Amino acid sequence: MVDLVIEGATILTADAGGTAHARGVMAVENGAIVHVGPEGSGGTLATNARTRLDGTGMLVMPGLINTHCHIASTLFRGLVEDLPLEPWLQTVWKAEAAILSPETTKLGSLLGLAEMALGGVTTVVDMFWHPYQTVEAAREVGLRICAGGTVFDGPGVTGESVETRLAAAEAFMGDFAGCEDVFPAVMPHGTYTVAPENLKAAHAIAERHGGIFATHAAETRAEVKDIETRYGRSVIRHLDHLGLLGPKTILAHCVHLDDEEIEILARTGTQVSHNPVSNLKLASGVARVPEMLAAGVAVSLGTDGAVSGNDLDLWLALRLAGMLHKGMAQDAGAVPTATALDLATRAGARAIGQEGRLGSLDVGKAADFIMLDLDRAHALPMFDPLTHAVFSAGKSDVRHVFVGGRQIVEDRALTGVVLGDILGQVRALAPRVAASIA
Ligand SMILES: [Zn+2]
Repeated sequence: MVDLVIEGATILTADAGGTAHARGVMAVENGAIVHVGPEGSGGTLATNARTRLDGTGMLVMPGLINTHCHIASTLFRGLVEDLPLEPWLQTVWKAEAAILSPETTKLGSLLGLAEMALGGVTTVVDMFWHPYQTVEAAREVGLRICAGGTVFDGPGVTGESVETRLAAAEAFMGDFAGCEDVFPAVMPHGTYTVAPENLKAAHAIAERHGGIFATHAAETRAEVKDIETRYGRSVIRHLDHLGLLGPKTILAHCVHLDDEEIEILARTGTQVSHNPVSNLKLASGVARVPEMLAAGVAVSLGTDGAVSGNDLDLWLALRLAGMLHKGMAQDAGAVPTATALDLATRAGARAIGQEGRLGSLDVGKAADFIMLDLDRAHALPMFDPLTHAVFSAGKSDVRHVFVGGRQIVEDRALTGVVLGDILGQVRALAPRVAASIA
């Protein structure tokens, strides 16, 4: 007896071999995938299933994995516009300091997580204040989350000392050790906001606990220049010199890299989160993704916060990853379609050390999957589910979402929280947010 069998849907497994089934069968038991195969496969699984779901007219694929976000910054969506990163950040930080408490952070997290769940994201890496509240929100909405203590030398939102922040980051690591839905991390903001000794202390915490170390790196030219002036090395060389690179380090952005820095990232196995929407809107530039991939750098995909991209649409990031680099390189083979999908699925799982459990519809992996409606004007005909997923599909196509076999979105509605309540509270808070930067 299995818990769930889905029949009749097109199944895009996003596995290493790019397997797809036109009218496939997938079975789930105890939160894991126990069968994926073509029509007629699975023997008596369907007749013995507790729940049978007819997937006719739908596309089943893995939930998307967003490897860089500031979820609760949804509260500041559209607040600061048409500025480059540095003056933009100063204004955003002013608003954050005025508005963010544990309660408002939870509210902003619920809003952002609701948006992502409804849009087919099942795992997110979040770097923000008050991570315990964000974990609470993730558990209510039903997503998996990689989060942890923020490290920042300035007063920031909480006004705490770096020592207090590092201690809190270490406590967080211990509190969520071994969880299946929370992957603990330590999250120093960047090399221009955190001193070398504090970056090293943060990294040591991640190492002690086998957790993730995530930070921003080489986002703008101004940042690269600033770090060169301060430390005599570029951002990537500075991080390498401090011993902070490796397979458990996620660097968001990496827009401004020279060839040798790409080699350093490849050699150290460092994870890079590509955030094309944020990089375009903040005029940071375009990351050298084809060169990174060619060199063997582990690249995945992120949205960044809704304050730099106005929404948390990983489909838009996916589509841009699949086309932006073709245009930049004037090479239609740059970032092939299968690679683009990989960035949003298996590569995302690898970035958080979960490649054995998440990121594709393989037997034995967690049942984190989404079902998209195909009976839509922009979605037919569909000759290849892969190109469809990357270039035609979007967040509004997502109808059902499952995380670990639990349905968190059913017929476009969240099952764990009441969206209307969240939206009402966000609406009520908005005048205070607007006044915070007036
Ligand atoms: Zn960011």
